[in-house]
Amino acid sequence: MTSFYQLEAPTSWAAPPDHFSFSSLQAIGACPRKWQLLHSEWGEHGRFPQRPHPKALEGTIVHEGIELLVRALGKRGLPSITSPAFREAVAEVDFWGHFARAVDQWNDRLARHPRSGPFFVLRTPPRELANRAIRLFREQYTPLDAAPRTTGASAAPSSSVEPMQLLEQRGAVSEVEVDHPALPFRGIIDLVELVDGDVQVVDFKTGKRKAEHEMQLKLYGVLWWRRTGFRPARLVVQYLNERSEWRIGEAELLAAERRLEESIDDAKRLLADTPAEARPGEDCGYCPARARCAAGWRAYQASLGRPRAGTTDLEVTVSAEPSPNGFLAETSGREVNVVYDAAVGQHLPPFEAGSCVRLLDVVVRDEGKTFEVRPWTEVYAVGHPASS
Ligand code: SF4
Repeated sequence: MTSFYQLEAPTSWAAPPDHFSFSSLQAIGACPRKWQLLHSEWGEHGRFPQRPHPKALEGTIVHEGIELLVRALGKRGLPSITSPAFREAVAEVDFWGHFARAVDQWNDRLARHPRSGPFFVLRTPPRELANRAIRLFREQYTPLDAAPRTTGASAAPSSSVEPMQLLEQRGAVSEVEVDHPALPFRGIIDLVELVDGDVQVVDFKTGKRKAEHEMQLKLYGVLWWRRTGFRPARLVVQYLNERSEWRIGEAELLAAERRLEESIDDAKRLLADTPAEARPGEDCGYCPARARCAAGWRAYQASLGRPRAGTTDLEVTVSAEPSPNGFLAETSGREVNVVYDAAVGQHLPPFEAGSCVRLLDVVVRDEGKTFEVRPWTEVYAVGHPASS
């Protein structure tokens, strides 16, 4: 079987999704090629086997924990930390359990990666991640201590109950998954409330204020309107320590819907090509598929200076027949040594003099004259330097 690192292109290219979400449209708009490469099939891998760095993963787990909690608190009117409603929210989302579950799930996924290794294991105890989340949360959380507008927690509507009917019964519904009836677009709305007879759509955010949050809320307003026939009058983005709230009219919602339709058409058109258009930018250095995207790889490599220490990514051409412990290679017009333990060498893709390879997370030695391939280094075979 051809190993993942010898596959220069997906074995089956991803088709556009049946339904777009706000985040998938954002991702496709930022770089259609990246979305497509990550969602395509690569041999035995259903999708591109990503290997995020543990530090980035820890940040994600902490952020997700805060988001879970904030949604549950939002349903209860953002109560103060000492209140029974706060404790109820913590229990509802099993806040402490979230961290242990997430660490286990990620370590399981990382272990199944073709180049897993000691540097790609989450070692921070879940309790420490939870404490980190609590510290961040406490620094920013501003309770409103508004009485919940519902009796009991707002409920997610079951598919058999009309969401508007439930909203009228309860005064609020949370985590409502709504499909647009005519466009392939779907969203999960954090909270919809009836306030003084008006429908108000709320989204909870734990990060910094961003312009795109406003557009997302407008689209969620469109979803609720088209799904129920009742047009929201107010949209709210609730951050941990501030609130952005505004009235919305029919014209604005219609304009947002038109832009949504255009974005979906653009996304479908962009993903119809294989490979889809690459949009190189500052994020290429963090793109999991960078070794399989010629345009992004070139842009990213051009932004790196000559590495002299630490770890780096590098493209080399093998100059001489490899020995069990390495080979002479050429990179950017200079000769370098690429070395590895014999045991590591056994798991590398086969290459010979003239082969081109892209090394990800290779250790820099001797001020950049030698590069050491470690068990976790990813070594991508490249048939032709310009291939993607
Ligand atoms: S490397 Fe850059 S241009 Fe290429 S797919 Fe990734 S983000 Fe897009």
